[in-house]
Amino acid sequence: MDNKKRKISILGSTGSIGRQSLEVIEKLHDRFEIVALTAGSNTELLREQAERFKPKYICSNSSPESLKGSHNAKILQGNEGLEEICSNRENDIILVAVSGKIGLKPTLKAIENGIDIALANKETLVMAGDIVMKKAKEANVNIIPVDSEHCAIHQCIKDISQVEKLIITASGGPFLNKTVEEMKSATVSQALAHPRWNMGQKITIDSATLMNKGLEIIEAHHLFNMPYEKTDVVIHPQSIVHSAIEYVDGSVIAQLGLPSMHIPIQYAICYPQRFEGIKSKSFSFSEIARLDFEKPDFDKFPALNLAYNAGKTGGSATVCLNAANEEAVFAFLKDEIKLYDIYEITEKMMEKHTPVKSPSIDEIFEIDNEIRLLTRENIKQRNFIK
Ligand code: NDP
Ligand code: MG
Repeated sequence: MDNKKRKISILGSTGSIGRQSLEVIEKLHDRFEIVALTAGSNTELLREQAERFKPKYICSNSSPESLKGSHNAKILQGNEGLEEICSNRENDIILVAVSGKIGLKPTLKAIENGIDIALANKETLVMAGDIVMKKAKEANVNIIPVDSEHCAIHQCIKDISQVEKLIITASGGPFLNKTVEEMKSATVSQALAHPRWNMGQKITIDSATLMNKGLEIIEAHHLFNMPYEKTDVVIHPQSIVHSAIEYVDGSVIAQLGLPSMHIPIQYAICYPQRFEGIKSKSFSFSEIARLDFEKPDFDKFPALNLAYNAGKTGGSATVCLNAANEEAVFAFLKDEIKLYDIYEITEKMMEKHTPVKSPSIDEIFEIDNEIRLLTRENIKQRNFIK
């Protein structure tokens, strides 16, 4: 990065990761220049962000008129707009912080154009990790993970060939110390009350079911080319150790820090440099005093086995896992099903699905659509709706 400003676009600047990335960039304003900011439907916030950060391009799913008259950025629209931004080689790096499958195609476009990626969007790797990582390697494009666990591992690894296993930490979410019965009768607001992290709704529910950790196991497999057998999950309620690796000689290297997404976001968009940036306070072991670890309860949180199985099966199995889970989460958020139904529905969809071994991007989207339809039908037919 040196003295030159790094040119960055943020896909999903109005979301939880997107807003925090702008806080980081505001602190490091002399080091970044914003090429583009994008939203889904929150055009009001996008207008405010455009006024403040003066990007060259803004993009949303709403009509271009709704963004007119704010700042004189070029107004783009929809998925084509996202892909146009990712084809713009002015960008040094693109932060992909949209939620859902919408992140996949723009990420591939950025790779095609040789643009480095700070990747928050999980679905990109869960749906198409084989293709994305292969293309990134061929194009010599860096994919720097924003997700705190993968960002931690990225910081720990020097030589992947000498790593014996990955140890991914999980806070355990709001139901860690609740019984299965309490989990079964949980309300939407109880499931949204995450004890450590303030995130978008979908990922917060995934954190309550531990499906988030399941998706992270799959992400880790692709990012670090590590077999599933060598990827462990450990519950660590304080969220101070963000993940660790064990080397073949028994040495364990962990990355620690206060639980704030600002740190991994900053790491990813500044990589390989580091700056003081937004750091709020210094880390103190004595203030933290204790760090707890325990084995995850695979019976109480079936998402972990579902994810390990999908990952080991490979091919389109993870597409199915992701689509079925997401539709079930949406149904739960609408209060149509119970929290535990998410597992049951996802498992049923996984059983029904015959995995395709190496699906193309088009096949991935077809399968994704098909599974979503089936999942919604299943929710209706099986009288999940209360
Ligand atoms: P949010 O729901 O808070 O934000 C999502 C962003 O994507 C918003 O800017 C939203 O726009 C935009 N968006 C949503 N749908 C579309 C669409 N169809 N077209 C264009 N833009 C769209 O999510 P998070 O910030 O929590 O998460 C983003 C991604 O990062 C997810 O994949 C998540 O799993 C991952 N992640 C998040 C973490 C966190 O701490 N939040 C941690 C690790 C990973 P609008 O505001 O207009 O709706
Ligand atoms: Mg995470």
